[in-house]
Order: sequence, then structure tokens, then C-alpha cells
Amino acid sequence: MALRADSLDLVALRLTAGEARRIELAVVLDSLELGGERYAVTPPQVDATVDVSKTTGGGHALRLRFQARVDGPCMRCLAPAQPLIDVDAREVSQPGLGDELQSPYVVDGELDLRGWARDALALALPTQILCRPECAGMCAVCGANLNEEGPDHRHELSPDPRWAKLAELKFDQ
Ligand SMILES: [Zn+2]
Ligand SMILES: [Zn+2]
Repeated sequence: MALRADSLDLVALRLTAGEARRIELAVVLDSLELGGERYAVTPPQVDATVDVSKTTGGGHALRLRFQARVDGPCMRCLAPAQPLIDVDAREVSQPGLGDELQSPYVVDGELDLRGWARDALALALPTQILCRPECAGMCAVCGANLNEEGPDHRHELSPDPRWAKLAELKFDQ
């Protein structure tokens, strides 16, 4: 069982330029809000792999990897959905080389692991959380779950009364 951590002191690793270290840590993930629905991460604590390399010039190159299960309603049929999300994120913290190379998650040599993990998970989510990739959604007429109803589910639409009137006229001639 990896040690739980919210942050990681990069300076304390005392890496020399070009040296790298792989660290296994447990991270707690906050629930997410998407399209007005709340999605929990279950379990909220996941094992993460952090790769830290010391760059020349005193900076750090970082990679964060973990898997998390997101739990909430399917965006098509509202049934429970629990997709497993693969997260693989990278950051660079290179002091003195401009904002682009200054990770917002590294402040004074301290990595905000929990904040980075939360944002990286949000970015790794698919555009739609689905109960299954081929979810058939809900019937637009009656709201039935089409995954359960099957492809034969349809409604006999009552004919438009105006057409019925036309048909009568034709009959009279
Ligand atoms: Zn669905
Ligand atoms: Zn229907």
C-alpha cells in the first residue's frame, strides 16, 4: 500500500541534473461536477506513479499516472455509469524560463499532487460519461431506457388529423 500524500517536496529528493526517481503514492481525488451532475471518484483514493526528473538548470520534469473510476449517471440514459479513466499527465517546472515552463502545481519546490491529480482527471474525462460506449440512450417519446428495450422499441404514431380530413375529401369525389 502506497503512502498517502497531498503534496510532494521535490527539493527534498535531492536529485542531481539528469537524475530521475519514480515514486508510488496514494492520492485522494475530489468528486467532479459535470453538466450539473456530481460524479464521485470510487474509491476516492488511488495509487499513482510520479516520475520526477531533475533538469539541467535546477528544474523538474514531472509525469503523473493513475487510473480512477468515475461514478455517476450516464449522460444518455441516466443509468449508473462507472467508467475507468486512464490519466497520464506531464508538467515541467523550470524556474527562470517564463510562465510556459513554470508548472502551476509547483510552488517553491513543492508539488501540489492533489490539485494536479484532480485537474488531470478532469482533462482526461471523455466528452460524455456513458454507462457503455454504445449506450442507446432514452426513447424521445416515452423516456424508456433503450438499452433494456432493445432495437425494436418504437411507437405507432397516430396519423395527423388533417391528413385524415384530406383522405375523406378524396373518398367523396
Ligand atoms: Zn447509458
Ligand atoms: Zn418509447
